[in-house]
Amino acid sequence: MDPRTWATVDDYLTDNLLGSDEALDDAARAAADAGLPDIAVSPPQGRFLTLLATMIRARSILEVGTLGGYSAICLARALPPDGTLVTLEADPRFADVARGNVDRAGVGDRVDIHVGAALDTLPTLRDDAPFDLVFLDADKANNPAYFRWALELGLPGTVIVVDNVVRHGAVADAASDDPGVRGTREMFELMAAEPRVDATALQTVAGKGYDGFALALVTD
Ligand code: SAM
Repeated sequence: MDPRTWATVDDYLTDNLLGSDEALDDAARAAADAGLPDIAVSPPQGRFLTLLATMIRARSILEVGTLGGYSAICLARALPPDGTLVTLEADPRFADVARGNVDRAGVGDRVDIHVGAALDTLPTLRDDAPFDLVFLDADKANNPAYFRWALELGLPGTVIVVDNVVRHGAVADAASDDPGVRGTREMFELMAAEPRVDATALQTVAGKGYDGFALALVTD
């Protein structure tokens, strides 16, 4: 199938099912104007995150990988007024753009952005834990460590979503030397061996290409 069809269908679903969303459109525009890479979740995936957080009545969410705050807005919208989203970003310039975007979207009071390498900021979050939902969407090479932290900072009932786990099919290549692929494969091995989680992964096609996400539930 022509991958352009995926983008056309994404646009169709966004226009007809999601409708216009000024805050998210403004956030995407501000990120593009600031020169941020076009690697945020798509509008349908963003709505998926909002719905998931709403379904589990999340009060406390952790995101690793903020970029310009697009998915942060989607997640924070699902929180009650006293809920919190902690989101981690290595690049201070991206974090500045995200701060502006979450504030303009009206969810800034619920969003804490921690600037720095996530492996340095995660150990400082013990007082914010437990998190009901953890969204892992940063450098894929560190996915094994991020998954361990999600377990450490979660509790039974915590939902873990890991984005970009298919990587145009490369995840199935055991010989790959791509650090992102290797990190994701190692994370899947951890997930599979971890008795405290039930997990699955779904392949997706969308305007941003062929990829997928993993979904795990901490059970014990
Ligand atoms: N979740 C965002 C969204 O959908 O709007 C997209 C996140 S983007 C795919 C990945 C982000 O992770 C980038 O902004 C990048 O700077 C950040 N990042 C990469 N390595 C990181 C690290 N070691 N610690 C924290 N953030 C990191």
